[in-house]
This record gives sequence, structure tokens and C-alpha cells, in this order.
Amino acid sequence: MRLILLGPPGAGKGTQAQHLVANYGIIQLSTGDMLRAAVKAGTPVGRQAADIMARGALVPDEIVVEIVAQRIEQPDARKGFILDGFPRTVPQAQALDRLLAERGLALDAVIELKVDEDALVRRIESRVAAMTARGEPLRDDDSPEVLHRRLAAYRAQTAPLIAYYRRHGTLRTVDGMAPIEEVAAAIAKVVADERKANPAPRVGTPKSKRTAKPPAKPKIGAKTARKARAGAARRAGAARKSARRVRKSAALGPRTRNRRR
Ligand code: AMP
Repeated sequence: MRLILLGPPGAGKGTQAQHLVANYGIIQLSTGDMLRAAVKAGTPVGRQAADIMARGALVPDEIVVEIVAQRIEQPDARKGFILDGFPRTVPQAQALDRLLAERGLALDAVIELKVDEDALVRRIESRVAAMTARGEPLRDDDSPEVLHRRLAAYRAQTAPLIAYYRRHGTLRTVDGMAPIEEVAAAIAKVVADERKANPAPRVGTPKSKRTAKPPAKPKIGAKTARKARAGAARRAGAARKSARRVRKSAALGPRTRNRRR
């Protein structure tokens, strides 16, 4: 099973991905976690990404696409995966389509966690305030200002993916403002429905193309069909006649043919 969880920062994608990991035994691929690990390890990718992430902007597409391409090659991704935080731009989604198609794979569903952004901001601001009050360390990008920038990046660059996946026929929307367990149940229902509709593992063509019926043959009436058969018979008769003529003139030879003319 291959799923995407789509939604703004703070919508609960990570929490819901954990539920899916526990229930379906597939892995969670969070590009945010992978990038944070790269920053911590001081790899070249990490050094490139550190400032961008701290600002709340998006890391260049080539970098994240390469990270995902390498990760889905790992043996533990063979059974399936949940993409959390990727794709975040239309070019990333297109690159993912290509990556999957090259491997004969396809997505099962893209699950959008629909949330009210104002409520989200209030939720995160109060969480940050509570953590600060308790003296707990915050992530570099956990300040309200950075959150506003991340939401702006989501609106401008990631939200267009909703229309993109709606067109692909893979988009499913659940209410992300409901309590965690209810959201998890709604997602489980999406997965169950998807499995019922498509019991075989998804390989090859994307859903929109897979469900499409083969083009119907044009229908013709009985009269047209009779005419077409008569025409074909006439043409076959004429072809046989002309073949006989060619055989006969070849047998007579060039002189005879000249004399006859
Ligand atoms: P997240 O934990 O998913 O909210 O990601 C944290 C930060 O990592 C984001 O604010 C971006 O700077 C960066 N990031 C994660 N995933 C992507 C992605 N798919 N494309 C670009 N930047 C990303």
C-alpha cells in the first residue's frame, strides 16, 4: 500500500502516519525527519537544507526528490509506505509519478487532512507557549513567525496538489480537526474502501487510467454492415479477376502480349 498524507504543517500528518505504521506494517517516509537527520549528521544535504528549514521555506525539489528516490529503493519500502510531507510541490508530485511508474508502482490514495488554519495556528501557538513555560526545547522552526511562513509556503506551493490529485482520481479528504482517534478511524475507512475496491496490489498505471474502460468499438446498423460486406465481396472478386488476368498475360509472354494489343 502506498499512501500520501497531505495537509498543512500541524495538521497531524505525523501522528496519523504512526497509526498507519502500527496498523498496516508499512513504513513512514517523512522528508522533514530525513532532512532533520541530515542536518544533525552534518551531511552535504543537511548543510544545504539547514538554513532553509530554519526559515520555514522549502528545500529545493531536486534534493528532496533524490532523498525519496533513494529511500523507496530500500527493502523495507517494498511492502509499501506512507509519504508524510512529500510531495510538497507540483514538480515533486510529477517526479514521484515518474519514480513510481519506472518501478511499475502506483499510489493507492492521497489522504488530505482538511483543517481550519486559524484553529491550527491557535493550537500550535498554545503548544509552543506551554512547551516554553515548561522549559522544553523547541524545534528551530517551531516559532509562531516560522509557522506563519510555513503556512504561507503550504498555501502557495503545496495546496495546488489537492487539485492535482483530484484530477488523478486518488484524492480522499478527511476532517483533520476531529479528535485524533476519529481522524484515524476515518483514514482506516479510506484504506478499507480502497482495498475493497482494488483487492490486488497496485502496480502499473495510475488509478485514473486503470479504471478507464477500453474504448468501445463504433456501433453500425445492420444495413450498413450488409453494405460493407457486399462491398468487400465485390472488391475481393475484382482482385481475383485482375490476378487471373496478370497470371494469363505472364504465361503468354511479351511478344504475344504485343500482338494482342
Ligand atoms: P516537516 O517536518 O514535514 O514539517 O518539514 C520540516 C521542513 O523540512 C519544512 O519546513 C521544509 O523546510 C523541509 N521539507 C520537508 N519536506 C519537504 C519537501 N517535500 N520539500 C521541500 N522541503 C521540505
